Amino acid sequence: MRRPVIVGNWKMHKTSTEAEELAKALVNHLTDLTDDREVVLCPPFTGLKVVFEVIKSSPIKLGAQNLHWEKSGAFTGEISALMLKDVGCSYVIIGHSERRTYFCETNSTVNKKIFAALDQGLIPIVCVGETLEEREKNQTFEIIERQIREGLVGLTHSQALRLIIAYEPVWAIGTGKTATPEQANEVHTFIRYLLAKNFNETVASEIRIQYGGSVRPDNIKSLMSQKDIDGVLVGGASLDADSFTKIVKFKE
Ligand code: PEP
Repeated sequence: MRRPVIVGNWKMHKTSTEAEELAKALVNHLTDLTDDREVVLCPPFTGLKVVFEVIKSSPIKLGAQNLHWEKSGAFTGEISALMLKDVGCSYVIIGHSERRTYFCETNSTVNKKIFAALDQGLIPIVCVGETLEEREKNQTFEIIERQIREGLVGLTHSQALRLIIAYEPVWAIGTGKTATPEQANEVHTFIRYLLAKNFNETVASEIRIQYGGSVRPDNIKSLMSQKDIDGVLVGGASLDADSFTKIVKFKE
């Protein structure tokens, strides 16, 4: 049984004061959070510590949006896995399409970041997904295959078991265009097939695969009804306490 995991990616939104307010509202709205689902908040780096202080006695967990693969050193502007652990993170998003598009991240940097995160005991949330152009050229499976093969190269089976994969079609992120539940599930099933091929059946059946791309309170139920969708990565709708709460409290 894969426990659904719902992650809010706040991107470059919320000052630390605003982050604290949103985290407090969510802790209040989610006092009845049951352990049949996992909830993770990913504020910007400057909000991590303050959000951790608010959520640390609740079941809500903390994640970061990025990390550098080195432990320390002359890497101006970067943050290491150890630094994320130090402020209370247990998860980290790796290879989000905005990082790949605007900050030149590749499958190879994603791979290095996964090892760095695992080394510190952080759970990597590894993002994959095709652009609209790639989908229209029928290249979706090819792109996903390469992202999984190159991104996860060298991981042992037990390391792979600690990952969460987020399938985020780039054309659905922040656009209001959600993939249909069937479109999303088709790719999730394909990712499980790839995990079985690159690792084994246990890895394929146990890894959680989230969907991301314009998830809202009105589409969460149909997405979560799909057999290979094990949670969601939420951008825009995670910035509002009421809409994120509705998403978290979805009923099957
Ligand atoms: C995201 O940031 O990963 C995302 C899916 O954003 P949105 O929900 O706004 O499409």
